[in-house]
Amino acid sequence: MNKSLTLAYLYPSLMNVYGDRGNILCLVQRCRWRDIDLKVCDVSMGEELDQTYDLLFMGGGQDKEQRRVAPDLLEVKGEPIRQAVERGMVALTVCGGYQLFGRYYRPAEGSELEGIGVFDAWTIHKGPNEPRCIGNVVALWGQQTLVGFENHGGRTYLGLNTQPLARVVTGYGNNAEDKTEGAAYKNAFGTYLHGSFLPKNPSFADHLIHLALERKYGLSTFAPIDDALELRAHQAALSLTQKRGWWKKARA
Ligand code: GLN
Repeated sequence: MNKSLTLAYLYPSLMNVYGDRGNILCLVQRCRWRDIDLKVCDVSMGEELDQTYDLLFMGGGQDKEQRRVAPDLLEVKGEPIRQAVERGMVALTVCGGYQLFGRYYRPAEGSELEGIGVFDAWTIHKGPNEPRCIGNVVALWGQQTLVGFENHGGRTYLGLNTQPLARVVTGYGNNAEDKTEGAAYKNAFGTYLHGSFLPKNPSFADHLIHLALERKYGLSTFAPIDDALELRAHQAALSLTQKRGWWKKARA
């Protein structure tokens, strides 16, 4: 029997900076290559969130877009998302979306935006005169490298109830202080990596699909894919950091 999955794509027209939509295209294609039907449903302003989704995605956005979506995310979708995450729904949030899945985001100007508290994390933008965290990032997720680029003013700090997704080797990551990148809580993940993130990090893309299949069908393995092209893109991103070979040492 062909497997099927559903994905809720939050605010696709508002929260989609730096090509974050590419993450959706990557998940759809990697499922299609495995005869898995991944149905993507846009969930925009004012629309309720059905808790039966297998996956959820929210991309990045400038402070202006975050201010537009934050009240809706909090009042309309917050509780269903928290409940679904507690029951193991797989979620990927990027940058501005990640920030609003924390407890709050204090933008450069204006009032603080309350987050939905999936992550025990908070974000503080240090003002327009503080340099933004911009550049290519390499981080270690377990023993595997994650690559992407970041562009954020907010600095995110993690509380005790949320683990970092990865450890920064090159770049700023969450806050340019504690070498953490992103967040992980149950099957929900946040990251600052744009690029878009998943196409150049095929093992993490498969991790998300695998978690969703395991939760829905109890599947423990699935067919590998020839990732030669994806891994060439990953390697090219690694070489941008000019730290050739560092990752062999980092794994030692
Ligand atoms: N506006 C947020 C910040 O500057 C997030 C930016 C983004 O999503 N790239 O930190």
